[in-house]
Amino acid sequence: MSTPQDQSTTQATVPPSPEFAAQAVAQADLYERAAADRLGFWAEQARENVTWDTDFTDVLDWSGAPFAKWFVGGRLNVAVNCVDRHVEAGNGDRVALHFEGEPGDTRAVTYAELHEQVQRAANALQALGVQAGDRVAIYLPMLVESIVAMLACARLGAAHSVVFGGFSADALNSRINDAEAKLVITCDGSYRRGKPTTLKPAVDAALAKGAPSVTNVLVVRRNGEEVDWVEGRDVWWHEALEGAAPQHEAESFDAENPLFVLYTSGTTGKPKGILHTSGGYLVQTAYTTKNVFDVKPERDVYWCTADIGWVTGHSYIVYGPLANGLTQVVYEGTPDTPDKDRWWSIVEKYGVTVLYTAPTAIRTCMKWGEEHPAKHDLSSLRVLGSVGENINPEAWNWYRRVIGSDRTPIADTWWQTETGAQMIAPLPGVTALKAGSAQVPLPGIVAEVVDDAGEPVGPGQTGYLVLTEPWPAMLRGIWGDEQRFKDTYWSRFPGRYFAGDGAKRDDDGDIWLLGRVDDVMNVSGHRLSTAEIESALVSHPDVAEAAVVGATDETTGQAVVAFVILRGGHEQGPDTVADLRNHVAKEIGPIAKPKSIMVVAELPKTRSGKIMRRLLRDVAEHRTPGDVTTLTDSSVMDAISAGMNATPQD
Ligand code: ATP
Ligand code: MG
Repeated sequence: MSTPQDQSTTQATVPPSPEFAAQAVAQADLYERAAADRLGFWAEQARENVTWDTDFTDVLDWSGAPFAKWFVGGRLNVAVNCVDRHVEAGNGDRVALHFEGEPGDTRAVTYAELHEQVQRAANALQALGVQAGDRVAIYLPMLVESIVAMLACARLGAAHSVVFGGFSADALNSRINDAEAKLVITCDGSYRRGKPTTLKPAVDAALAKGAPSVTNVLVVRRNGEEVDWVEGRDVWWHEALEGAAPQHEAESFDAENPLFVLYTSGTTGKPKGILHTSGGYLVQTAYTTKNVFDVKPERDVYWCTADIGWVTGHSYIVYGPLANGLTQVVYEGTPDTPDKDRWWSIVEKYGVTVLYTAPTAIRTCMKWGEEHPAKHDLSSLRVLGSVGENINPEAWNWYRRVIGSDRTPIADTWWQTETGAQMIAPLPGVTALKAGSAQVPLPGIVAEVVDDAGEPVGPGQTGYLVLTEPWPAMLRGIWGDEQRFKDTYWSRFPGRYFAGDGAKRDDDGDIWLLGRVDDVMNVSGHRLSTAEIESALVSHPDVAEAAVVGATDETTGQAVVAFVILRGGHEQGPDTVADLRNHVAKEIGPIAKPKSIMVVAELPKTRSGKIMRRLLRDVAEHRTPGDVTTLTDSSVMDAISAGMNATPQD
């Protein structure tokens, strides 16, 4: 993907302040140590960040590639690492979770309380027949109990399969059956935009469709909505926990014991059930949390706004932060309830020091306007993080200026459900930051940008992102589909992991993510990246969000078609489209000029907030949009299709 004019290579950098650099948890020597002896480095991290009941004998067994074994012979209990050991170290009084419900109810859960809850839950699950090697489906919103449920499974050596609470009964049914879950944990309902919602009915419907493996449903009471009850199958969570002993003796499990199955977001197609195991996953999530977010448990209040239904919620709400003994905020609701400043009121109220969120949320806040964060004191923030999509430079600069007071480092973290933990990201006390680039592989990670033949590309060149060495938190397979695992990730460049993302190396060697390889456009022989054209559009003062796709074109092969959302207060005028086209021509070059631009109210997004370009491509090529089951709001596509048919193409 080459663009006629290269923006990134002339990019200014933002070095860490000397004060921040001096106190930073991660110093530059991490890179040196990892480069000198990569496996030795991981062994060191494993012993520093995780407590093993039996030490491992080998760091890595790659003889069964692409199926890795990390920390061979090591035994541990993941839940004990996340909870018990902090209590044993004398930190039982520290708050683990500051829960804030959407209606404004709050609850502070200390590590000692979390310890008791997890032990009771483990006993309750055991009483329902759950044992090591089983699977448990968790269909819950953002509640304390959701985290307790995941940890209780981990404590028993059973794998959880968390299904995002916004998914339909059908999606839930197929995930329950795919994993052959024995138990489903859900709740009566939650709150969303000020109104009670229900979850239990979806579980009832999912099980009514047939789920022979399920013997019980454990139901958390959250909002008191009335629920149907199947005697003998359904059990109240609070009754089960009250009836269970407050102590539970934890067993040790092998480092490769399955920890969870989790489905990818479905941005590019049918979701894949990704399998993660225990030791390596915990080591890398704990290590990255500590070093990338520069956290110290005595000092920081951490908040990741993801949902536990996504991998970010697994790795950077549950396992990484709790393994580090952090205090964190868990928020149940939406960012605009009761008002568009809810997030910023939470930052102020709890003195949040580290905030980890997604570009889609940042761009939404940009669209809403600066007046909302301006109502609150955000001076407690020390580090900001971003994950899930490209953060375009405009959004990066807004995030740093408006939320970070031009002071906080921003960690743009590239990783996937499959990688389990962060892979490419700056270290906040070391790296001079570049707006819009995830920059460099973390110490211990080896990534490359390669061309079609698998050769590393030179400075300023674009290609495919691959991971050339195994890493501790790597996926151990696709649940029940060995062949798809090999085909999807290991066949394009044999021996190396193919991430499916396009990337560029700039003149300094920094990595820029360019979007999905499937989304790359070819216009008159020029390979153009969606990410770069979208960034150019968003750098126009009128534009809040943009999605770009390539549509088949008789003359040019493919033509650039753009969909844009305007910023709050901006109306589409007679010159808007021409203005935006010229702006792209000026920023990138005439070749990248969109053939058509459509102003829309919303873009189709997955429930994890990513733009689904494949659906827009269907619209741009006048097809009926394909699979929309992981879309947040399918009416968005109807509105765009209707608008597209009404827009004259030039
Ligand atoms: P599916 O694999 O089902 O299509 P998905 O890829 O959206 O779904 P995830 O594992 O949640 O599912 O997302 C990982 C992808 O998100 C990455 O491959 C990349 O495309 C994108 N991504 C994540 N973080 C970043 C980042 N910091 N910069 C650019 N892209 C990112
Ligand atoms: Mg993916």
